[in-house]
Amino acid sequence: MQQWDVIVIGAGAAGLFCAIEAAKRGRKTLVLDNGKRIGRKIIMSGGGRCNFTNMYASPANFLSQNPHFCKSALSRYTQWDFIALVQQYGIAYHEKTLGQLFCDNSAKDIVEMLQQECDKAGVQIGLQQDIQQVSFVDGQYQLTTAQGVRQCHSLVIASGGLSLPNLGATAFGFQLAEQFGLKVLPVRAGLVPLTWQPSDKAVFEEISGVALPVTADANDTQFPEDMLFTHRGLSGPAILQISNYWQPGDELRVNFAAGQDVTAFLTEQQQQHPAQELKTSLARLIPKRLVDKLLELQLFQNQPLKALNAKSIARLDELLTQYVFKPNGTEGYRTAEVTLGGVDTNELSSKTMEAKKQPGLYFIGEVVDVTGWLGGYNFQWAWSSGWVAGQYC
Ligand code: FAD
Repeated sequence: MQQWDVIVIGAGAAGLFCAIEAAKRGRKTLVLDNGKRIGRKIIMSGGGRCNFTNMYASPANFLSQNPHFCKSALSRYTQWDFIALVQQYGIAYHEKTLGQLFCDNSAKDIVEMLQQECDKAGVQIGLQQDIQQVSFVDGQYQLTTAQGVRQCHSLVIASGGLSLPNLGATAFGFQLAEQFGLKVLPVRAGLVPLTWQPSDKAVFEEISGVALPVTADANDTQFPEDMLFTHRGLSGPAILQISNYWQPGDELRVNFAAGQDVTAFLTEQQQQHPAQELKTSLARLIPKRLVDKLLELQLFQNQPLKALNAKSIARLDELLTQYVFKPNGTEGYRTAEVTLGGVDTNELSSKTMEAKKQPGLYFIGEVVDVTGWLGGYNFQWAWSSGWVAGQYC
């Protein structure tokens, strides 16, 4: 039986970062993963450029049943610490928008950096591992795999969530938590496109490809970003962001004219171009294909601007700024970037990430009920929670 100080399950962002820190402390550390290579999600993240952190990351950018839980880890290993590491490796990066930092060249730069850090610290990595059983015997964890039994003092679960099953996602971490009597909160797909009701699909499918800046609003939360009509429903950053807050059955309110004063615009247009057709003016506020669709749906009547009165302008304002969709669901884990819910943070110490009632068992990264917004926050949680656990495991 092989003996280790620390075994980390999952060679993703959180697992690798934790292993590096543990090995730096002199702990004999092994990372086991079911895939053929390390950091598979990192490689495909951010469109292949990995949005590795966000300059403005703060606890307010995360969802969790206990919003205070993430504070400790985020403050002990911050975005600035990770940026310093990226700079140390000479990886070129840029801010795309809203503090989101991406590699200039490729996400592979981040994976290579992690591999080098693992090599320097002496982390061992076992790939294509099928972990069949985990038991706790005489204060140590025993892992049975096809390659034999391994034993360790500290077991760190960094196996991620359920998104992208074709990239190796499994429910392993949730099942293991339950095996040791820890509560797992219900999970659902997050940062995911929303899908049409059949009736809306028939109407809006035709304008798939239309993109516009909007404010998306569900459950008293708003995101002002871009939205995209697709064949299946709605996507784009505004929709991915709001999908974390939207629940089946909820309305989704969309302001098609985000940042614009529709009433002031139409009143001014009316004065300057009284003979102009209403649809021509509206096409200056929102994409023409969307205007044509709203007209086809008879949601407004095309007429010269001079025919509008204050009431009809107010109605148009409401139509454009408070359009209500009723999505019937999400595209699910097949395309979701993250999994909401997971191991209940009440079961873990926020200082160490260790299970309160199971000594030596740690949970980090996405498997924990802490989920970030779109924009580099999820990797920051992986780095921060991994780093913290790496100091204690
Ligand atoms: P993961 O990265 O999911 O790693 C878990 C590892 O555990 C995997 O390698 C998996 O194969 C392995 N594993 C699972 N089950 C087992 C098992 N039974 N046995 C052994 N190994 C197992 N976040 C950002 O901040 N910025 C981005 O640009 C970004 N882009 C994304 C793009 C896409 C397409 C997706 C899907 C996600 C993106 N995310 C992004 C989210 C981010 O990738 C995750 O939040 C982050 O990878 C979570 O890290 P983790 O280490 O907890 O889990």
